[in-house]
Amino acid sequence: MLGAIAGDIIGSRFEGGPPPPPGFPLFHPDCRFTDDTVCTVAVAAALLDGTDMAGTLRAFVRRHPDRGYGGMFLRWALDDAQGPYGSWGNGAPMRGAAVGWLTEEEADARDLAALQANVTHNHPAAVAAAQAVAEAIVRFRRGDDVAAVRDHIARTYRYDLRPESALASSGFDVSAAGTTPAALAAAFEAEDWEAAVRTAVGLGGDTDTLACITGAVAEARFGLPAPVAAAARDHLAEDLAMVLTHFEARVAAGPPGTQAAGAMHLPSGSGP
Ligand SMILES: [Mg+2]
Repeated sequence: MLGAIAGDIIGSRFEGGPPPPPGFPLFHPDCRFTDDTVCTVAVAAALLDGTDMAGTLRAFVRRHPDRGYGGMFLRWALDDAQGPYGSWGNGAPMRGAAVGWLTEEEADARDLAALQANVTHNHPAAVAAAQAVAEAIVRFRRGDDVAAVRDHIARTYRYDLRPESALASSGFDVSAAGTTPAALAAAFEAEDWEAAVRTAVGLGGDTDTLACITGAVAEARFGLPAPVAAAARDHLAEDLAMVLTHFEARVAAGPPGTQAAGAMHLPSGSGP
């Protein structure tokens, strides 16, 4: 999950601008965590603690306003009475990294990805994109090779992941269906985590969200370089860093039913 956060932070200063030149510094004083990180951590917190997904997202957004939320999402977050609003945006895949780390089976990953997406982004294209990202993470974590993961995702989600099409920059695209194949292809085509995120940011447009998704998937494939992990962690607010620490301990402990891992599908307090 820290790979997603690092991608968001690295991409944050280029959002909406022209693509940066190759070799840009990954971290810079203008970098900050944005809505991608807040929502990613909120989803993780809800899964870890078994708390209500919508309520947890709202609580995190209210603690961290002014992080570049989309208008419709912000209205939803500030109004407890609002239900899902049919969004097809990339908010669903951008915030779901934790799903891929807190599940071991693809079917569970798809279910939890849909659960987190559906509280706001209940358009089929947004749900599918969240599922594709979670599934790619699960498959890389268990050691599938990149060709197998790419072929499976392309077939299952009908994404064109060929680099000549997926990585042809399409301007500022906030759709789940537009962002996700590009972000996945960046992770699939790279030699390491940093190269993957540089490719994503180099597409321009919604750079923080592209790099967030790419960074999430590339972390599952390659791991996260230690200096990147340290720099990203340094950018986090304390409450977000606490969830990250809890999340990392849970992932290190292994799946539910083994050792001390709790029951992420169950309400808090009902674990073993
Ligand atoms: Mg953002």
